[in-house]
Amino acid sequence: MVRLAVVLNLKTFAMFQTTIQRSVSTHGVGLHTGAHGNIRLAPAPPDTGIVFRRVDLDQFPIEARGNNVARVSYATSLMKQGVLLSTTEHLLAAIYSCGIDNIYIDIDSIEVPILDGSAEPFMLLIDQAGIRRLRRKRRYLKVVKPVEVVEDGRRIAIYPANEFQVQCYVDFPHPLVGKQEVELVVNADSFRQVLSRARTFCFESDIEPLRAMGLIRGGSLDNAIVLTKDGVMNGPLRYADEFGRHKALDLIGDLALVGLPLLGRVEARKAGHALHTMLVSRLLADPSSWIITAQEAESVHSVDRADYHAPASAAD
Ligand SMILES: [Zn+2]
Repeated sequence: MVRLAVVLNLKTFAMFQTTIQRSVSTHGVGLHTGAHGNIRLAPAPPDTGIVFRRVDLDQFPIEARGNNVARVSYATSLMKQGVLLSTTEHLLAAIYSCGIDNIYIDIDSIEVPILDGSAEPFMLLIDQAGIRRLRRKRRYLKVVKPVEVVEDGRRIAIYPANEFQVQCYVDFPHPLVGKQEVELVVNADSFRQVLSRARTFCFESDIEPLRAMGLIRGGSLDNAIVLTKDGVMNGPLRYADEFGRHKALDLIGDLALVGLPLLGRVEARKAGHALHTMLVSRLLADPSSWIITAQEAESVHSVDRADYHAPASAAD
Protein backbone atom coordinates (compact mmCIF):
# COMPACT_ATOMS: atom_id res chain seq x y z
CA MET A 1 0.00 0.00 0.00
CA VAL A 2 2.73 2.41 0.98
CA ARG A 3 4.64 1.57 -2.14
CA LEU A 4 1.57 2.26 -4.31
CA ALA A 5 1.08 5.63 -2.62
CA VAL A 6 4.67 6.58 -3.42
CA VAL A 7 4.24 5.60 -7.05
CA LEU A 8 1.05 7.64 -7.31
CA ASN A 9 2.79 10.58 -5.71
CA LEU A 10 5.65 10.47 -8.17
CA LYS A 11 3.17 10.26 -11.01
CA THR A 12 1.26 13.28 -9.75
CA PHE A 13 4.54 15.10 -9.30
CA ALA A 14 5.50 14.34 -12.90
CA MET A 15 2.19 15.74 -14.18
CA PHE A 16 2.86 19.20 -12.81
CA GLN A 17 5.45 21.82 -13.60
CA THR A 18 8.18 22.49 -11.06
CA THR A 19 10.55 25.20 -9.95
CA ILE A 20 13.01 25.40 -7.04
CA GLN A 21 12.03 26.15 -3.43
CA ARG A 22 14.59 28.84 -2.66
CA SER A 23 17.45 30.76 -4.23
CA VAL A 24 20.97 29.32 -4.10
CA SER A 25 24.32 30.67 -5.30
CA THR A 26 27.80 29.63 -6.29
CA HIS A 27 30.74 31.18 -8.12
CA GLY A 28 33.84 30.27 -10.03
CA VAL A 29 35.91 30.73 -13.14
CA GLY A 30 34.71 30.11 -16.71
CA LEU A 31 36.59 27.35 -18.56
CA HIS A 32 37.05 29.20 -21.84
CA THR A 33 37.07 32.90 -20.95
CA GLY A 34 38.76 32.59 -17.56
CA ALA A 35 36.23 35.21 -16.37
CA HIS A 36 35.06 34.87 -12.77
CA GLY A 37 31.29 34.68 -12.39
CA ASN A 38 28.63 34.51 -9.68
CA ILE A 39 25.49 32.51 -10.41
CA ARG A 40 22.26 32.42 -8.47
CA LEU A 41 19.44 29.99 -9.19
CA ALA A 42 16.05 31.46 -8.34
CA PRO A 43 12.42 30.19 -8.40
CA ALA A 44 10.36 31.16 -11.47
CA PRO A 45 6.59 31.08 -12.18
CA PRO A 46 4.84 28.47 -14.40
CA ASP A 47 5.59 28.56 -18.15
CA THR A 48 8.78 30.61 -17.66
CA GLY A 49 11.08 27.81 -18.81
CA ILE A 50 14.81 27.93 -18.09
CA VAL A 51 15.96 31.54 -18.41
CA PHE A 52 19.43 33.00 -17.91
CA ARG A 53 19.52 36.63 -16.81
CA ARG A 54 22.69 38.69 -17.22
CA VAL A 55 22.50 40.69 -14.00
CA ASP A 56 25.53 42.72 -15.11
CA LEU A 57 23.42 43.87 -18.11
CA ASP A 58 20.23 45.02 -16.44
CA GLN A 59 18.86 41.45 -16.01
CA PHE A 60 18.92 40.89 -19.78
CA PRO A 61 17.10 37.54 -20.30
CA ILE A 62 18.43 34.77 -22.53
CA GLU A 63 16.05 31.82 -22.76
CA ALA A 64 17.67 28.36 -22.86
CA ARG A 65 16.06 27.56 -26.21
CA GLY A 66 17.28 26.32 -29.57
CA ASN A 67 16.64 29.66 -31.26
CA ASN A 68 19.25 31.32 -28.98
CA VAL A 69 22.11 28.94 -29.81
CA ALA A 70 25.05 31.00 -30.97
CA ARG A 71 28.32 29.37 -31.54
CA VAL A 72 29.16 25.83 -30.86
CA SER A 73 32.67 24.47 -30.94
CA TYR A 74 34.12 23.26 -27.67
CA ALA A 75 31.17 24.43 -25.56
CA THR A 76 27.60 25.52 -26.18
CA SER A 77 27.00 29.25 -26.19
CA LEU A 78 23.74 31.13 -26.27
CA MET A 79 23.34 34.56 -27.80
CA LYS A 80 20.42 36.94 -28.00
CA GLN A 81 20.60 40.43 -29.46
CA GLY A 82 24.38 40.32 -29.29
CA VAL A 83 24.48 39.27 -25.62
CA LEU A 84 26.52 36.11 -25.20
CA LEU A 85 26.56 33.42 -22.56
CA SER A 86 28.98 30.51 -22.79
CA THR A 87 29.34 26.95 -21.55
CA THR A 88 25.73 26.37 -20.51
CA GLU A 89 25.70 22.58 -20.93
CA HIS A 90 26.72 21.18 -17.53
CA LEU A 91 24.34 23.37 -15.53
CA LEU A 92 21.50 22.75 -18.01
CA ALA A 93 22.13 18.98 -17.87
CA ALA A 94 21.59 19.02 -14.09
CA ILE A 95 18.48 21.24 -14.25
CA TYR A 96 16.89 19.29 -17.12
CA SER A 97 17.59 15.86 -15.62
CA CYS A 98 16.08 16.98 -12.30
CA GLY A 99 12.83 17.83 -14.10
CA ILE A 100 12.95 21.54 -13.23
CA ASP A 101 10.68 23.27 -15.74
CA ASN A 102 10.97 26.87 -14.56
CA ILE A 103 14.05 28.59 -13.17
CA TYR A 104 16.00 31.84 -13.41
CA ILE A 105 19.75 31.56 -13.64
CA ASP A 106 21.15 34.95 -12.69
CA ILE A 107 24.74 35.43 -13.77
CA ASP A 108 27.09 38.44 -13.76
CA SER A 109 29.53 37.08 -16.31
CA ILE A 110 29.79 35.89 -19.89
CA GLU A 111 30.39 32.25 -18.94
CA VAL A 112 28.90 29.71 -16.52
CA PRO A 113 31.58 28.68 -13.97
CA ILE A 114 33.19 25.33 -14.75
CA LEU A 115 33.64 24.40 -11.04
CA ASP A 116 35.13 20.86 -11.02
CA GLY A 117 34.33 20.19 -14.70
CA SER A 118 31.36 17.92 -13.91
CA ALA A 119 27.69 18.54 -13.08
CA GLU A 120 28.01 17.32 -9.47
CA PRO A 121 28.41 20.79 -7.91
CA PHE A 122 25.23 21.89 -9.72
CA MET A 123 23.36 18.81 -8.43
CA LEU A 124 24.43 19.71 -4.88
CA LEU A 125 23.22 23.26 -5.47
CA ILE A 126 19.82 21.97 -6.67
CA ASP A 127 19.66 19.71 -3.58
CA GLN A 128 20.15 22.81 -1.42
CA ALA A 129 17.47 24.67 -3.35
CA GLY A 130 14.84 21.90 -3.19
CA ILE A 131 12.17 21.30 -5.85
CA ARG A 132 8.66 22.70 -5.64
CA ARG A 133 5.60 21.57 -7.56
CA LEU A 134 3.55 24.30 -9.24
CA ARG A 135 -0.17 24.29 -9.96
CA ARG A 136 0.18 24.09 -13.70
CA LYS A 137 0.20 20.95 -15.87
CA ARG A 138 3.55 20.03 -17.32
CA ARG A 139 3.77 19.78 -21.09
CA TYR A 140 6.13 17.38 -22.83
CA LEU A 141 7.50 17.45 -26.32
CA LYS A 142 6.81 13.93 -27.55
CA VAL A 143 8.66 12.74 -30.63
CA VAL A 144 6.40 10.97 -33.13
CA LYS A 145 8.73 10.69 -36.14
CA PRO A 146 12.51 10.12 -36.33
CA VAL A 147 14.81 13.08 -37.01
CA GLU A 148 18.44 12.50 -37.91
CA VAL A 149 21.63 14.49 -38.52
CA VAL A 150 24.64 12.81 -40.17
CA GLU A 151 27.99 14.43 -40.84
CA ASP A 152 31.47 13.02 -41.51
CA GLY A 153 30.94 9.65 -39.82
CA ARG A 154 29.18 11.33 -36.90
CA ARG A 155 25.53 10.82 -36.34
CA ILE A 156 22.73 11.80 -34.01
CA ALA A 157 19.05 10.89 -34.20
CA ILE A 158 15.90 11.04 -32.12
CA TYR A 159 13.13 8.43 -32.18
CA PRO A 160 9.66 8.08 -30.68
CA ALA A 161 9.62 6.73 -27.09
CA ASN A 162 7.40 7.05 -24.02
CA GLU A 163 10.24 8.26 -21.81
CA PHE A 164 13.45 10.28 -22.19
CA GLN A 165 16.28 7.94 -23.12
CA VAL A 166 19.80 8.60 -24.36
CA GLN A 167 22.41 6.36 -25.86
CA CYS A 168 25.83 7.89 -26.41
CA TYR A 169 28.76 6.24 -28.19
CA VAL A 170 32.26 7.73 -28.35
CA ASP A 171 35.41 6.49 -30.02
CA PHE A 172 38.71 8.31 -29.44
CA PRO A 173 42.04 6.81 -30.51
CA HIS A 174 43.55 6.81 -27.02
CA PRO A 175 44.47 3.81 -24.85
CA LEU A 176 42.33 5.08 -21.93
CA VAL A 177 39.31 5.99 -24.06
CA GLY A 178 38.70 3.95 -27.22
CA LYS A 179 35.08 2.91 -27.69
CA GLN A 180 32.72 3.72 -24.82
CA GLU A 181 28.94 3.53 -24.78
CA VAL A 182 26.48 4.80 -22.20
CA GLU A 183 22.73 4.25 -22.24
CA LEU A 184 20.11 5.36 -19.74
CA VAL A 185 16.57 6.49 -19.09
CA VAL A 186 17.17 10.06 -17.95
CA ASN A 187 15.79 11.19 -14.60
CA ALA A 188 17.24 12.84 -11.50
CA ASP A 189 18.37 9.53 -9.96
CA SER A 190 19.97 8.02 -13.05
CA PHE A 191 21.67 11.31 -13.89
CA ARG A 192 23.04 11.67 -10.37
CA GLN A 193 24.29 8.11 -10.20
CA VAL A 194 25.60 7.52 -13.69
CA LEU A 195 26.59 10.85 -15.25
CA SER A 196 26.73 13.82 -12.89
CA ARG A 197 30.29 13.21 -11.60
CA ALA A 198 31.91 12.68 -15.02
CA ARG A 199 34.31 15.53 -15.81
CA THR A 200 35.28 17.51 -18.89
CA PHE A 201 38.38 16.23 -20.62
CA CYS A 202 40.89 17.39 -23.19
CA PHE A 203 43.98 16.06 -24.90
CA GLU A 204 47.33 17.56 -23.92
CA SER A 205 48.14 17.98 -27.62
CA ASP A 206 45.03 20.21 -28.02
CA ILE A 207 45.96 22.62 -25.23
CA GLU A 208 48.24 24.91 -27.25
CA PRO A 209 45.91 25.09 -30.31
CA LEU A 210 42.93 25.81 -28.02
CA ARG A 211 44.86 28.54 -26.18
CA ALA A 212 45.86 30.03 -29.54
CA MET A 213 42.12 30.21 -30.37
CA GLY A 214 41.55 32.16 -27.16
CA LEU A 215 39.88 29.20 -25.45
CA ILE A 216 40.46 27.32 -22.15
CA ARG A 217 41.84 30.44 -20.42
CA GLY A 218 40.26 29.20 -17.21
CA GLY A 219 41.28 25.57 -17.75
CA SER A 220 43.36 23.87 -15.09
CA LEU A 221 44.13 20.44 -13.72
CA ASP A 222 41.37 21.08 -11.15
CA ASN A 223 38.57 21.40 -13.71
CA ALA A 224 39.43 19.10 -16.62
CA ILE A 225 40.97 15.70 -17.11
CA VAL A 226 44.04 16.12 -19.30
CA LEU A 227 44.95 13.11 -21.42
CA THR A 228 48.62 12.70 -22.32
CA LYS A 229 49.80 10.56 -25.24
CA ASP A 230 49.16 7.32 -23.39
CA GLY A 231 47.80 8.20 -19.97
CA VAL A 232 46.23 10.86 -17.84
CA MET A 233 48.08 13.83 -16.35
CA ASN A 234 45.81 14.33 -13.33
CA GLY A 235 44.38 10.98 -12.33
CA PRO A 236 42.78 9.03 -10.95
CA LEU A 237 39.71 8.92 -13.18
CA ARG A 238 36.35 8.76 -11.41
CA TYR A 239 35.24 5.97 -13.79
CA ALA A 240 37.08 3.96 -16.46
CA ASP A 241 34.46 5.25 -18.92
CA GLU A 242 34.35 8.81 -17.55
CA PHE A 243 34.75 10.18 -21.11
CA GLY A 244 31.68 8.43 -22.52
CA ARG A 245 29.70 9.44 -19.44
CA HIS A 246 30.75 13.07 -19.79
CA LYS A 247 29.71 13.13 -23.46
CA ALA A 248 26.25 11.82 -22.45
CA LEU A 249 26.08 14.59 -19.81
CA ASP A 250 26.94 17.20 -22.49
CA LEU A 251 24.29 15.70 -24.77
CA ILE A 252 21.54 16.05 -22.14
CA GLY A 253 22.62 19.64 -21.42
CA ASP A 254 22.25 20.49 -25.11
CA LEU A 255 18.90 18.68 -25.41
CA ALA A 256 17.57 20.97 -22.65
CA LEU A 257 17.47 23.59 -25.43
CA VAL A 258 14.37 21.83 -26.79
CA GLY A 259 12.64 24.01 -24.19
CA LEU A 260 10.29 21.33 -22.82
CA PRO A 261 10.82 17.90 -21.22
CA LEU A 262 11.39 15.33 -23.96
CA LEU A 263 9.65 12.03 -24.56
CA GLY A 264 11.96 10.42 -27.07
CA ARG A 265 15.08 8.33 -27.50
CA VAL A 266 18.28 10.05 -28.61
CA GLU A 267 21.14 8.08 -30.12
CA ALA A 268 24.45 9.90 -30.56
CA ARG A 269 27.47 8.42 -32.32
CA LYS A 270 30.73 10.40 -32.11
CA ALA A 271 28.63 13.55 -31.90
CA GLY A 272 29.45 16.80 -30.12
CA HIS A 273 27.88 20.16 -29.30
CA ALA A 274 27.51 21.16 -32.97
CA LEU A 275 25.59 18.00 -33.87
CA HIS A 276 23.55 18.04 -30.64
CA THR A 277 22.31 21.56 -31.27
CA MET A 278 21.73 20.84 -34.98
CA LEU A 279 19.40 18.01 -33.93
CA VAL A 280 17.52 20.36 -31.60
CA SER A 281 17.13 22.88 -34.44
CA ARG A 282 15.98 20.29 -36.95
CA LEU A 283 13.52 18.77 -34.53
CA LEU A 284 11.97 22.13 -33.64
CA ALA A 285 11.88 23.19 -37.28
CA ASP A 286 9.77 20.14 -38.21
CA PRO A 287 6.51 20.26 -36.22
CA SER A 288 5.30 17.06 -37.96
CA SER A 289 7.95 15.17 -35.94
CA TRP A 290 6.48 15.91 -32.49
CA ILE A 291 3.39 16.72 -30.51
CA ILE A 292 2.97 18.63 -27.27
CA THR A 293 1.28 16.49 -24.66
CA ALA A 294 0.38 16.76 -21.00
CA GLN A 295 0.76 13.02 -20.44
CA GLU A 296 4.00 11.27 -19.68
CA ALA A 297 2.88 7.67 -20.30
CA GLU A 298 0.99 5.74 -22.99
CA SER A 299 -2.40 7.43 -22.79
CA VAL A 300 -1.18 10.45 -24.68
CA HIS A 301 -3.61 13.06 -25.82
CA SER A 302 -2.40 16.06 -27.66
CA VAL A 303 -2.96 19.54 -26.20
CA ASP A 304 -3.47 22.62 -28.25
CA ARG A 305 -0.39 23.02 -30.40
CA ALA A 306 -1.01 26.74 -30.68
CA ASP A 307 -0.10 26.99 -26.98
CA TYR A 308 3.47 26.15 -27.78
CA HIS A 309 5.51 28.55 -29.83
CA ALA A 310 8.31 26.55 -31.35
CA PRO A 311 11.50 28.54 -31.54
CA ALA A 312 12.81 29.29 -35.00
CA SER A 313 15.67 27.02 -36.03
CA ALA A 314 19.03 27.91 -34.57
CA ALA A 315 21.94 29.12 -36.64
CA ASP A 316 24.05 26.10 -37.54
ZN1 LIG B 1 31.19 19.06 -21.06
